[in-house]
Amino acid sequence: MSMPQPEGASRTHGGIEPPVGLLAELTHRCPLQCPYCSNPLALVRRSEELSTAEWKRVFDEAAELGVLQLHLSGGEPTARPDLEELIAHARSRELYCNLITAGVGISEARLDALVAAGLEHVQVSIQDVDPEGCDRIAGYPDALRKKLAFARAVRARGLPLTVNAVVHRHNLDRLERMIELALELGADRIEVAHVQYYGWALANRAALLPTRAQLERSLAVVERARRELEGRLVIDFVIPDYYARRPKPCMNGWGRAVITVSPDGRVMPCHAAHVIPGLVFANVRDEPLARIWYESEAFNRFRGTAWMKEPCRSCPRREIDFGGCRCQAMLLAGDPEATDPACELSPEHARILALAEAESQAPPPPFLYRTLAAGRAPREPAPAA
Ligand code: SF4
Ligand code: SF4
Repeated sequence: MSMPQPEGASRTHGGIEPPVGLLAELTHRCPLQCPYCSNPLALVRRSEELSTAEWKRVFDEAAELGVLQLHLSGGEPTARPDLEELIAHARSRELYCNLITAGVGISEARLDALVAAGLEHVQVSIQDVDPEGCDRIAGYPDALRKKLAFARAVRARGLPLTVNAVVHRHNLDRLERMIELALELGADRIEVAHVQYYGWALANRAALLPTRAQLERSLAVVERARRELEGRLVIDFVIPDYYARRPKPCMNGWGRAVITVSPDGRVMPCHAAHVIPGLVFANVRDEPLARIWYESEAFNRFRGTAWMKEPCRSCPRREIDFGGCRCQAMLLAGDPEATDPACELSPEHARILALAEAESQAPPPPFLYRTLAAGRAPREPAPAA
């Protein structure tokens, strides 16, 4: 995405840059039940969601703060009947509007309304190229046909399209066909992202982790496709942290580029930050976005490098990957200040790698499907003996 730089975009405040992107999690409601969903197990209910007027005020404050890109996400953002109104408002504040959607249950008339409101880019998730595999992962019937029809309707209206392919043990062997499908749909980009193990995905980790052999085959597929499709399709590839040698620069650094607002108005440096005990997240219902970004304890907690322990503290990569993901450090090492165990230099790395090898080679347990009532989440039926 390339966008004009509005006046004031380089404004800093005590050396802190304003965020470039706002991830607006409009709702946690979703017709799909993906076991790889990174939403928290305790999902926000409809009655707790920000109202239309509250979201509009958030977009006003984001534009004033210097945000350029608005990512409308969830859950499934089209579950909000006011989405057109929100997009039109965001466009009036010159925010670039990107819709991140599952692409089911959206009629052509609704899509026309979203485009007329000013929608500029669509990311649609494809769970698998195999219809049965797609239905099984999504926990939703006839999902692939509906997603493909939606993606084609997006392209027919001239909007740029990105295919989001979340890959794991059950679909990784069809990666080549997923890339071909993105090309056939006329997508500009495919984001091949291995599952990030937060929320529901963490609860399903043993069912989803691919084997190292699968990962290595997929690396070769991506390398070849990038060579062959250069100039026709951009292929982004996120490898699974558990097999990585160095961590990803999570969110491009804590409180550096993206501000996330959850459906109930809590403002977080990343959508998984609630796993870190002791962090208190301010709410847009109580405080302006700018004050939260620049001054709140949660956003300043892991900014810069002063909080780091060894080996990150003296590592030459500390300004490149920022020590990896704080939430993963918490979940896997039990310490949000620790080096992300995805890094080979972490004392926890060998244990995490051994865990990945063991879980990925054991028979996969049935999926725990994502649902609003975590305590009543349906398990996939066991295969017939
Ligand atoms: S990952 Fe699946 S269940 Fe989660 S929000 Fe996206 S489409 Fe819905
Ligand atoms: S030690 Fe820390 S800064 Fe260095 S590569 Fe590993 S995670 Fe990154």
